[in-house]
Amino acid sequence: MLAGVAAAAPLLAATVPAAKADIRPGQKEVLVLGAGMAGLTAALSLLRRGHKVTVIEFQNRIGGRLLSVPLMGGQFSEAGGGHFRSNMPYTLSYIRRFKLPILALNDGLPRYFVDGKTADGWNLADRPWPLTREERNVTLASSFNRYLFRAGLDTDTVLDATWPDAGALEALDDVTIGDLLRNHGASEAFCQLLSAHAGTFSVQAQALAAAPRFAYHFGSPALFRVQGGNNRLPMALANTIGIENIVLGEPVTEIDDNGPKIRVVTASGKAYSGDAVISTIPFSVLGDVKVNPGWSSGKLKMFQKMLWDKTVKVIAQTKSPVWLEQGAYGWPMAGGDRPWERVIDITGNEGGGYGNVFFYLNDKNAEAVLAHPRQSRADVVVKQFQQDMPSLLGDIVMTKSFAWSEQPWIKGSFGAMPLGGGWMIKEWLQPEGRIHFAGDFTTLKTGWVEGAIESGLRAARQVDPDAKAEGNPAIRQEKKS
Ligand SMILES: Cc1cc2nc3c(=O)[nH]c(=O)nc-3n(C[C@H](O)[C@H](O)[C@H](O)COP(=O)(O)OP(=O)(O)OC[C@H]3O[C@@H](n4cnc5c(N)ncnc54)[C@H](O)[C@@H]3O)c2cc1C
Repeated sequence: MLAGVAAAAPLLAATVPAAKADIRPGQKEVLVLGAGMAGLTAALSLLRRGHKVTVIEFQNRIGGRLLSVPLMGGQFSEAGGGHFRSNMPYTLSYIRRFKLPILALNDGLPRYFVDGKTADGWNLADRPWPLTREERNVTLASSFNRYLFRAGLDTDTVLDATWPDAGALEALDDVTIGDLLRNHGASEAFCQLLSAHAGTFSVQAQALAAAPRFAYHFGSPALFRVQGGNNRLPMALANTIGIENIVLGEPVTEIDDNGPKIRVVTASGKAYSGDAVISTIPFSVLGDVKVNPGWSSGKLKMFQKMLWDKTVKVIAQTKSPVWLEQGAYGWPMAGGDRPWERVIDITGNEGGGYGNVFFYLNDKNAEAVLAHPRQSRADVVVKQFQQDMPSLLGDIVMTKSFAWSEQPWIKGSFGAMPLGGGWMIKEWLQPEGRIHFAGDFTTLKTGWVEGAIESGLRAARQVDPDAKAEGNPAIRQEKKS
């Protein structure tokens, strides 16, 4: 599965009181499919309400797309979710609640390499691309925020759990974020720089889900990750849920919603029954699960139409973070229209002395690297980069690669709506019989832990309206009411 990547699975002592599940009359038995952040969030909130919950997980590990990778010197990298921002209230609240130590990361001051020309992010006076007059002398974030404002949006509103309203849904459903920005004055050169900064997929993405993505990138410069690996967050949830309530290494193969109880069967033939199911199985693989009675046509269409990216991450540890002396660092440290796409410096204030970076390849760039044998993928990417920016990384001491499309439990990295896919929102909100849906891909915060937590709580509240988040998230929508 991994080229030289061993997943970290630190076992923690539970830091918060364990959830109890003494079954009481009128309370439910709930089967949660998937032990990623969405499933664990749903499970814990229902256990806290006294329901009986069993989490059934495909893999022999907890955490789904939070997958930490130990490096030399006690450092950690991330094959999946790499960083969090202070405009993610649920994520912050869960990290606080479980008392996880955090590392501070740097926001990006990248060196861009676009159209054969290079320039540093900090050097606003020297932009060798045909930007408009109003795109000059300001940062990429400032220009982006101005265009968003002209489109009647802002980085706060689009992160609200109540967004989009009917008007925004209609206006943005059929437009890419790139076209939305162009309609409000953005130049092609600006859009290219934006792709270099946020990844090739971002500008071509449907505006409804891309707006929150950019709002995270340009709405908060405060970045962090969990010291010792982001995977410690789902591990902390699992410890509180209680390992006796979690079944590992049992892929769900069948769901039968016909009888008095809903029944779930796994690959080994074990059967579980309950009053409700919360499925966080990614739509990319949910079609492999046999369902009786069959899925409605709307659900089937949603599973088939959702787009899944094939992200490849290449992790590199360097002798030291030499790029700091060159004024390039952070998320991202370098980005371009070259096959290496983006390299991100996650070293921040992590100890150990080594530099800690990963390349983040999507779409065509991911496909190109996937054509190489696993053992040579990391070297191919790093060599391409060293030719373009020979001095930025310095000496490399270790590389590894991770291909998301090769993981049988997801076969992709992020699920996104296609253009005109706004109808999916209603579909994922609507349970099918006794099956409720969660997973970051059932929110507009797809590709973010915040979306996963939000979706887990939403599904839990469909089962029990009083299910609550852990800790004390300063959630916009709660503040308003
Ligand atoms: C490359 C990459 C970079 C990312 N970067 C960031 C970032 O910087 N910041 C951020 O906040 N987020 C980031 N994310 C997103 C973040 O990792 C996800 O939002 C979050 O982990 C998703 O949680 P989930 O529970 O919705 O899904 P998952 O974590 O995918 O959980 C789904 C679970 O279902 C299980 N499953 C699948 N099939 C079955 C079956 N048949 N039976 C039982 N179980 C099954 C899977 O094994 C898995 O454990 C990134 C993700 C990737 C891939």
